[in-house]
Amino acid sequence: MSMSVFARGLATAAKDAEYDVVVVGGGPGGYVAAIKASQLGLKTACIEGRGKLGGTCLNVGCIPSKSLLHNSHLFHEAKHSFAKRGIETGEVKVNLAQMMAQKDASVTSLTGGIEMLFKKNKTTYIKGWGKLTSPNSISVASENGETQTVTAKNIILATGSEVANFTGVTVDEKQIVSSTGALTLEKIPEKLLVIGGGVIGLELGSVWNRLGAEVTVVEYLDAVGAGMDVDMAKAFQRTLAKQGFKFKLGTKLLTCEKKDDKVVVEVENVKSGKKETLTFDVALLSIGRAPVSKDIGLESASISVDKRGRIEVDDHFRVKGHQHIYAIGDVIAGPMLAHKAEEEGIAAVEIIASGHGHVNYDAIPSVIYTWPEVAWVGKTEQEVKAAGIAYNVGSFNFAANSRAKTVDDYEGKIKIITDKKTDRILGAHLMGPNAGELVAEAVLAMEYGASAEDVARTCHAHPTLSEAFKEACMAAYDKPIHS
Ligand SMILES: Cc1cc2nc3c(=O)[nH]c(=O)nc-3n(C[C@H](O)[C@H](O)[C@H](O)COP(=O)(O)OP(=O)(O)OC[C@H]3O[C@@H](n4cnc5c(N)ncnc54)[C@H](O)[C@@H]3O)c2cc1C
Repeated sequence: MSMSVFARGLATAAKDAEYDVVVVGGGPGGYVAAIKASQLGLKTACIEGRGKLGGTCLNVGCIPSKSLLHNSHLFHEAKHSFAKRGIETGEVKVNLAQMMAQKDASVTSLTGGIEMLFKKNKTTYIKGWGKLTSPNSISVASENGETQTVTAKNIILATGSEVANFTGVTVDEKQIVSSTGALTLEKIPEKLLVIGGGVIGLELGSVWNRLGAEVTVVEYLDAVGAGMDVDMAKAFQRTLAKQGFKFKLGTKLLTCEKKDDKVVVEVENVKSGKKETLTFDVALLSIGRAPVSKDIGLESASISVDKRGRIEVDDHFRVKGHQHIYAIGDVIAGPMLAHKAEEEGIAAVEIIASGHGHVNYDAIPSVIYTWPEVAWVGKTEQEVKAAGIAYNVGSFNFAANSRAKTVDDYEGKIKIITDKKTDRILGAHLMGPNAGELVAEAVLAMEYGASAEDVARTCHAHPTLSEAFKEACMAAYDKPIHS
């Protein structure tokens, strides 16, 4: 062996190490799992390839989108609502570069915060792309070309998800963008096409609609917000339409191509077959996300994936055939949500440490951070009906809530679904001011198996938006509470 080859061999093997737990992926599932494992006294490393911790959520997902949603909402309020509230301003203008800078600053401070938490909890942060090479070892390729191998008694795969492709559509992140490009547009498009009326498309559509774009949503299904309670989805769509959104539901995208500085698309009505050609400045492809399960060496440990490429796990997050390899978050089945990934990360680590860990999938909230916000937890009315459960519905409009009226922000309602026999809350569906915060009360109630009566008999401060939740529960409860 020549000296130089020997030296290279040494360089690649020098950092080999063994851990109790190695987490592959530093998103909300992975970093939370890694910190928890360290806190429980396990020697832990987290491998992350993108150069920053926090995954999709912090870098190109929840956090930057919520920053833009908040600031575009403030702009919209200043422009359209301040005058009637008795606040006079001069001309209100968008400084897009500054809005983006503020978003980037929030991302940087949060991703840096996780790195500090790693240091504080003595979690080893291994920078590079990890690949299983056997059921107990992972090779990590770092940016500078070095490779190291780490071995682990337990492995947690938390490689998350990436933007789903649409055959024939080429994303350039400038004119035809994914959610990532829609978070960094340099100019407000005059006409924006949103392909897919799910949560991400409607949130990012809202941002650009508020900043002045004319937004058209093309959705294959007959309703927006896939998976929402049907009543709420209809009400939500009406509200967005009032804000200027145009909808083409029951419509499929056929082609989407760049022509000079425009994007030209052909769409087809699913029922009538009628085709249309439309032109936009920017098209946002938001038809969903795909699990990152290729190129991570699953074959080295004979780990199977389902038809959609999601790693198959049992009730304890263990992959088939291995007691010590776990998978969590977007790379497995279930709602693609940061808090779901976190819960699973904690549960998997608790199972490693003590044999016991649990996630209650009936009490995982979903939120759409538009204005008004939309939030829900538990079953929809359609699901309860399909399950043959006798149920009650209680609802309450924010227009009758004194706080919502006081602040002149009362679009929407709360709908509670309860078991007719037991009065137990089965689902809560909210659209209204701060619905994303209010849903936490429903989650807590459901986690503790509360009945609508339990909530209705709980004192809520006046005047608060939360009184609307109490009122909806009161309406769901069969019998009079205050006789
Ligand atoms: C625009 C947008 C807005 C969103 N808003 C919300 C929201 O408001 N609320 C919410 O709950 N969810 C939201 N989500 C979804 C949320 O971001 C995801 O559900 C969540 O990030 C999933 O966490 P995870 O840890 O499973 O995976 P990810 O966050 O995807 O993290 C996985 C990490 O693993 C790394 N990785 C992958 N392969 C390897 C490898 N081989 N080696 C090393 N590292 C690897 C990736 O680089 C990535 O950093 C949003 C998503 C998008 C795109």
